[in-house]
Amino acid sequence: MDNNSIDIIITVPHSLCLHTYRDCDMLAKKAGTLLYKGLKEKHNTIIMFSNVHRTKLDLNREESRQSSFREELRILLKEENVKMLLDVHSFPNRSLPGEITFLVFNVNNFVYRLTTWLLQNNIDVNIVTASKVNDIILEAEHNNIKQLLIEFNESLTDERLKFIIDKMIQIFNILI
Ligand SMILES: [Zn+2]
Repeated sequence: MDNNSIDIIITVPHSLCLHTYRDCDMLAKKAGTLLYKGLKEKHNTIIMFSNVHRTKLDLNREESRQSSFREELRILLKEENVKMLLDVHSFPNRSLPGEITFLVFNVNNFVYRLTTWLLQNNIDVNIVTASKVNDIILEAEHNNIKQLLIEFNESLTDERLKFIIDKMIQIFNILI
């Protein structure tokens, strides 16, 4: 681990909640924080939480590219040796399949090995083709950085969420 370079960027663009209704990704802050704590033991890791509410500006869409969040992210993406970007979200039970769903542009070797490992550990993981409106992973891809949009099911218990994230960290430590 080189102390001067960033290995992993975690973005949580819908973490800011007002709680007048389900107005944010309810589990994303907790999931992102667990991923961050696990990954930073072996990798220089940065996590970015949303600083603007989704109803004002969706930080995962093209129209937010001039926001402070996206400009800060852009600087990080241009740094040398960034190995991976994880864009963390969560969904109400059944609005996407399974316990976790990956939104990806293509099933490359990284996605294939990650998914296979999680399935072998009896985690209900699904893959959905990402739309190009998912602007954070799109920008990472344009910078040739390995990226993954992860959606966590909001019905996961704390214990199950921790198990899933521990398994993810084990395989990230091999794959990146
Ligand atoms: Zn989201």
